[in-house]
Amino acid sequence: MTLLTVDDLVVEHRTPGRPVVRAVAGASLSVAAGEVVGLVGESGCGKSTLARAVCGIGRPASGTIAFQGRPVAPLGLRRRDRSLTGIQMVFQDPYASLNPRRRVGDQIADGLRAAADASTTPADLLDRVGLPREFATRYPHEFSGGQRQRIAIARALAARPSLLIGDEPISALDASAQAQVARLMRDLAVESGAGLLFISHDLSVVRLIADRIAVMYLGKIVEIGRTDEVWADPRHPYTRALLGAIPAPDGAGVLPAELPGDVPDPAAPPRGCRFHPRCPKVMDVCREREPEFGPVACWLHEPA
Ligand code: SF4
Repeated sequence: MTLLTVDDLVVEHRTPGRPVVRAVAGASLSVAAGEVVGLVGESGCGKSTLARAVCGIGRPASGTIAFQGRPVAPLGLRRRDRSLTGIQMVFQDPYASLNPRRRVGDQIADGLRAAADASTTPADLLDRVGLPREFATRYPHEFSGGQRQRIAIARALAARPSLLIGDEPISALDASAQAQVARLMRDLAVESGAGLLFISHDLSVVRLIADRIAVMYLGKIVEIGRTDEVWADPRHPYTRALLGAIPAPDGAGVLPAELPGDVPDPAAPPRGCRFHPRCPKVMDVCREREPEFGPVACWLHEPA
């Protein structure tokens, strides 16, 4: 069953006196129940803006987002639509996302109340994320980064989400905690039948946990497919560049800070294919016409 459908989504950032930036420029993807989709791309490519729009933060300029068949309405100044408690997000910085003045058990209890779940206790959820039950009475500053992120996951799970979104949830953690926390998110989401949209610049972790991978470049999804297939045969030149930049031989690594070539200004993306100024395979058509098709948005892979 498809939980989330994002169709041709456009999200613009407007600052007075400055050009409009299309942070998401016509992106489409879906997440099914029990599925893990990894969303990867260089910093500033629009991954987090897309995730925030899915949560109702920010008003899309065009396109649609549907969660369990219902359109996701922007939050505005109103309270969050109750149906959106089915989407929970785990953020990059676990310290900033937890209230430092409240006991962690009380913060987890907020989610249990939202889900009207009287049979589960905050201690039960701490147990599920691998922390001692007695931690419920402590405050966030008493924990390491990895422990705090586990608490943030417990709080998100308390609301019984159908869709969990991790927005770079491991990038602030020690290397030793990264794979553990990523696997934990995957296991807990899949166990409960929820979907997981996992945003990361760490390709090795995405490979470890994602059923499908979506590669984003300058606001567009340029390639999407099963993780094993994309890994074995990356078809878009940008995907090839990303995978090629991973240190051999174990496949571990993160996206390079910069690939060869100039990074285009997102406020004035190149005409035609957005990747063409950096692409080793560029052709005349690439400079003129944008490849607006999937699963590989590249003129070398135009569907028949
Ligand atoms: Fe390269 Fe052309 Fe494909 Fe863009 S469309 S990635 S420029 S070959």
